[in-house]
Amino acid sequence: MNSEFAGHVGIVTGGTRGIGRAITEMLVARGAKVYLFGRDAHAGQELQQRLGSGGVFIPLDVTHGPLVEETVEQIFATEKRLDFLVNNAGITRDNLLLRMKDDDWDAVLTTNLKGAYYCTKAVARWMLKQRSGAIVNIVSVVGEIGNAGQANYAAAKAGLIGFTKSVARELSSRGIRVNAVAPGLIETAMTQHLPDELKQRYADQIPLGRFGRSEEVAEAVCFLLSPRASYITGQVLNVDGGMVMR
Ligand code: NDP
Repeated sequence: MNSEFAGHVGIVTGGTRGIGRAITEMLVARGAKVYLFGRDAHAGQELQQRLGSGGVFIPLDVTHGPLVEETVEQIFATEKRLDFLVNNAGITRDNLLLRMKDDDWDAVLTTNLKGAYYCTKAVARWMLKQRSGAIVNIVSVVGEIGNAGQANYAAAKAGLIGFTKSVARELSSRGIRVNAVAPGLIETAMTQHLPDELKQRYADQIPLGRFGRSEEVAEAVCFLLSPRASYITGQVLNVDGGMVMR
């Protein structure tokens, strides 16, 4: 059994379903204690029950800065350590630029980018004190290559890539690593609504010929959080079936 996170404590935002849930389940299965943030109390409590003592659901909207700070402070006070943070919470509100509503621009930027800023700032305070920690931000290939109809989402994810690199530089001298994982098209609620014909067209453009699974993203996240990635910081690891090659 893999127990590389035994004794480690951390936070996964948007841990209630999809990619965040897969990350949470994998970390717990490998020995970590995970505090998962999300707004859907029903899904959160159901998952907490399944995870047993390894998972603690906290109903929390990551766009509420002061609440995030207070919650992280309480977690540190209880656990006396904070080993990792995964900024995974994200939403889409797609539309072509000229049809995009200001509210949809704001909601996507606020959740995907400002939420990660609030959580990272709150966690960094404690990681700096303990002089260790690892942070992974979930970005997207869309933040690297753009996508028609997703100007807000692409801006947020590209912003999060810049944020990842800047914070990696700021925190590196205290032993804190900050990286990003860029998924391509993954089978979750976020992609479920796509018409089958469009899904097939997208799949035809992916070198590996299929959408990815949440567990495949979780595996990359676990690697970057683990000591196996001890000399890696400020990087974007693509988990996209070959969609983006550099
Ligand atoms: P889902 O829609 O399945 O899950 C999103 C998660 O984010 C949910 O747990 C949701 O929980 C949480 N969330 C959303 N808003 C907030 C908020 N304000 N506060 C706290 N939690 C929030 O999406 P995916 O699992 O597909 O996506 C996860 C991440 O991966 C996102 O950042 C997404 O942009 C990224 N990604 C996904 C891809 C895909 O193909 N699926 C591709 C590339 C990137 P709740 O509703 O309980 O708040």
